[in-house]
Amino acid sequence: MTTGGKISSLWLNPTVAMGEELRRLPEPLSSPAGECTIFFRADDVGVPGYQFARLVDLFRRHRVPLTLALVPAWLTARRWRRLREISRRDPALWGWVQHGWRHRNHAPQGKKDEFGPARSYGEKRRDLLRGFERLSSLVGAELLPVFVPPWNRCDEETLTALGDLGFKALSRNLGARPAAPQGVPDYPVTVDLHTRKEEDSEKGRLALLKELSEGLSRPLCGFMIHHQRMNEAAFAFLDLLLRGLSRRRGVRLVHLGDLVR
Ligand SMILES: [Zn+2]
Repeated sequence: MTTGGKISSLWLNPTVAMGEELRRLPEPLSSPAGECTIFFRADDVGVPGYQFARLVDLFRRHRVPLTLALVPAWLTARRWRRLREISRRDPALWGWVQHGWRHRNHAPQGKKDEFGPARSYGEKRRDLLRGFERLSSLVGAELLPVFVPPWNRCDEETLTALGDLGFKALSRNLGARPAAPQGVPDYPVTVDLHTRKEEDSEKGRLALLKELSEGLSRPLCGFMIHHQRMNEAAFAFLDLLLRGLSRRRGVRLVHLGDLVR
């Protein structure tokens, strides 16, 4: 697995009350569209545990929808039963989507990717298809035909295969290349809460607040969550964030299934 427990410096040294900062963020109403549609995407889902249960409970308490990207090779019938148990109440809040087959890096060097040029079209298409089949057999009709490439990165061949296999959307970073094909819109994440790379916690804090502020001024704002990397400070901040957003006017909270429909 590639989802070790490395916690961003920002959350290891939460020097300033981030809740105070949240109150100073601009109203989404100032966005050109007059409304901000917001979704939260939790990646690397498949292994139930305390952190996962806590995350789901937080979203349930605030009545905020959550998109959950499942890693097909990690999911078993037993694990799915447990994930389902945790999220059984309020099924409308959860949008289950497909993450990378095994979340394995195939790039020989440089940036990590599972769906990049190191592998053939056939191999990538096979992984997309067997991922979808495995998740469909376990999750059933609740599975959304939406793909989240690991590290928010995939190549042109993968995009072609997604269209070919009937996927209805994907989700990467804002501005990701190559551009999404016709019929497979990209709903990007713009705010990275838990895999920030800044070594310096103050830099991390400022960068996150900038992403937040810019994200909320757009018509669509996606948040990326990695529950394995959350500590108390990260949970406390997310709690404040969800409370604040769910009370704001001009905010529409959705999961990716609501956008695809
Ligand atoms: Zn991932």
